[in-house]
Amino acid sequence: MTFEQLKLIPPILKALAKENYTQPTPIQEQAIPPVLAGRDLFGCAQTGTGKTAAFLLPIIQLLSAQQGRPSGKRVIRSLILTPTRELAIQISDNFKSYGRFLNLRSAVIVGGVSQKAQEQALEQGMDILIATPGRLIDLMNQGFADLRHVQILVLDEADRMLDMGFIHDMRRIIAKLPAKRQTLFFSATMPPEIKSLVDSLLTNPMKIEITPVSSTAERIKQALYFVDKPNKLPLLIDLLQDKSIESALVFTRTKHGADRLVRGLTKAKITAQAIHGDKSQNARQAALNNFKQGVTRMLVATDIAARGIDIEELSHVINYNLPNIPETYVHRIGRTGRAGLSGIAISFCEYEEIPYLKDIEKLIKQKIPVIGDHPYPMTMNESTPTAVRETRTSVTSSEDRVTRGHRKGTNRNDSAGRKGTFEGSGRPWKRRS
Ligand code: AMP
Repeated sequence: MTFEQLKLIPPILKALAKENYTQPTPIQEQAIPPVLAGRDLFGCAQTGTGKTAAFLLPIIQLLSAQQGRPSGKRVIRSLILTPTRELAIQISDNFKSYGRFLNLRSAVIVGGVSQKAQEQALEQGMDILIATPGRLIDLMNQGFADLRHVQILVLDEADRMLDMGFIHDMRRIIAKLPAKRQTLFFSATMPPEIKSLVDSLLTNPMKIEITPVSSTAERIKQALYFVDKPNKLPLLIDLLQDKSIESALVFTRTKHGADRLVRGLTKAKITAQAIHGDKSQNARQAALNNFKQGVTRMLVATDIAARGIDIEELSHVINYNLPNIPETYVHRIGRTGRAGLSGIAISFCEYEEIPYLKDIEKLIKQKIPVIGDHPYPMTMNESTPTAVRETRTSVTSSEDRVTRGHRKGTNRNDSAGRKGTFEGSGRPWKRRS
């Protein structure tokens, strides 16, 4: 299938060629024709599937086909609601690329930055508004945002918007839109609240489901290091001696943890910046740009901040902390291996995180290969549940190591083979004395 066969107009085809997109992804293939035909859409798909273009391309085409504008000033004809600032900026960047040969204007409205410029943008008028719900509600309440002309509504990452507590804001925004409109609804998961939203907002939607969350993990090489909490930083520094890890997105559980890790890496002369909710929008954008341009080697992020970050050709994701929600693991590692690229995901698991690991492995229906011989093996005491000592056949051999980040001869146990490995467990920890 080609983009031409999807009946996209030449200015869009030209923009896609400039992006080096040679063929549509499955969600684009399935979503573009019904959206162009005016149908509502429910897409069960996550970031990395090409879903942004799946909704932006037909929206751009539909809006540019309409001639003339009432009273000369542009009115908001499409509203895209998305959970985070980064995702909003990403959508806006994509819009600018795909719509570069057409005369459409967009604006982004997000929290965390001054409202003034956003008021001015609304004053000037636009065709497409990309917004996070909280700031949009503020501007609507102050009379700045007029949504009476919206023809196409997109709810992007709706499940994440629910998780983030935006449901009331979403409903209040939707109540201000014309009842007669086209609605495109995207969600990576399908909890009951999402189902009832879909039922109440969509009319006879086209339903498309792309790669269930558990199968994303299959194309990404994964590696697991059992390590005690205080040894995580030394282990990371050790792995980063390998220059083939040119850059990596590192996930921590907390904002403080992210800041602490950046300080530790910086002390070890590894360039790193953090991106999380306590940072201003400008600081987050600067950190992201520095990372994209290779000024910093490590971008340390919390889950919410990282949602929607789109970095082309990201080769490594490092889980400095394992997430307690197993789906989050899949979202995180899905940052690498995008658009068919293969990526590497390295995870550190401390003792307290073993239950999270079990949930993750249950979800992805795989055992994550364990790197046994590293310099900081986890210690173990008699109270360690037998369940976690289970024999693993998936211990990665030194030849088969996926990280290439491990250097021979640095392992304190190297001289005596796998001396530190718990007998018979295949687990790379040593007994706590
Ligand atoms: P998304 O799922 O929308 O976040 O897109 C994931 C990544 O895939 C982004 O970097 C897009 O630029 C890229 N992408 C989207 N569609 C295509 C395509 N048809 N061919 C190649 N790359 C694409």
